[in-house]
Amino acid sequence: MAPLIEVRNLKKYFAIDGGLFSRTRALLKAVDDISFTIDRGETLGLVGESGCGKTTAGRTICRLYEPTAGSVTFDGVPIYSLPPSEMLPLRRRIQMIFQDPYASLNPRMTVGDIVGEPIDIHGLAQSKQERLEMVHELLHTVGLSPEHATRFPHEFSGGQRQRIGVARALAVEPEFIICDEPISALDVSIQAQVINMLEELQEKRKLTYLFIAHDLAMVKHTSHRIAVMYLGKIVELAGSAELYKNPQHPYTQALLSAIPIPDPDVEAERQRIILEGDVPSPIDPPIGCRFRTRCKMAKKICSEQDPEFVNLGDHYVACHLVK
Ligand code: SF4
Repeated sequence: MAPLIEVRNLKKYFAIDGGLFSRTRALLKAVDDISFTIDRGETLGLVGESGCGKTTAGRTICRLYEPTAGSVTFDGVPIYSLPPSEMLPLRRRIQMIFQDPYASLNPRMTVGDIVGEPIDIHGLAQSKQERLEMVHELLHTVGLSPEHATRFPHEFSGGQRQRIGVARALAVEPEFIICDEPISALDVSIQAQVINMLEELQEKRKLTYLFIAHDLAMVKHTSHRIAVMYLGKIVELAGSAELYKNPQHPYTQALLSAIPIPDPDVEAERQRIILEGDVPSPIDPPIGCRFRTRCKMAKKICSEQDPEFVNLGDHYVACHLVK
């Protein structure tokens, strides 16, 4: 069966001022030629340090940003070729859940209106009563109660606010949801509840997720496959179990080595790979392999040629050492 989402050679550059005394404009290459597919009902985890371009990738895929180059095909429809005025039906099928449940909800709107707004935009209710019933049903679906509809966001905890954000996304019965670090801003004790809720919803509603996170521990149990992103590029992509068992890219290996292991004996033996230096600027990324300035395995070729994204058998890696 054809994948629900197909991302091909996607690029998103931002033109920014070159500096106080510069007349030129520089290009910030936030997303620089990424490709992947997501099957129906699948969760693809997209992981990387902050500033690696993963949020920009999510926003460009659902066309909150216009791409610089490349294509995204959703259920056979090349979405960038649609005139913006024809995007509305597609916006109903693709939704986004944002990282910050504090900033993403309008503090002056009641929860009922926040959840009801997409119902209004897409004309999904025939009457006020039907709208109210839909809002109550959505609140119930995310573990809140109908009485919450008349309250305001500041009256809720972080976990509850994220549930409101999920109810708002579900209001239009989407097929694909981009979850942009949906649990990063929440207490650890609440994170598992939100993850469980998203997994149950996926099961019941046959949802497809792109799950964006900044560390591999967060996506281990939620994702069927994981793509690791570094400085605008995907450096490794594999099934979740395969990636954890058999990481090939030095960056993935370093990220995995940073995850604590629950077994104290194994934890005592854990060898951490310390990543030295900062992520270089996406305005002026290193020539060749972008990871070479922090890679202990770097060779001469790494500063000369960008490694190709090679397929080792449903396991893709971009590194000159991996053939
Ligand atoms: Fe390291 Fe070279 Fe592989 Fe890049 S291509 S990850 S610099 S070994």
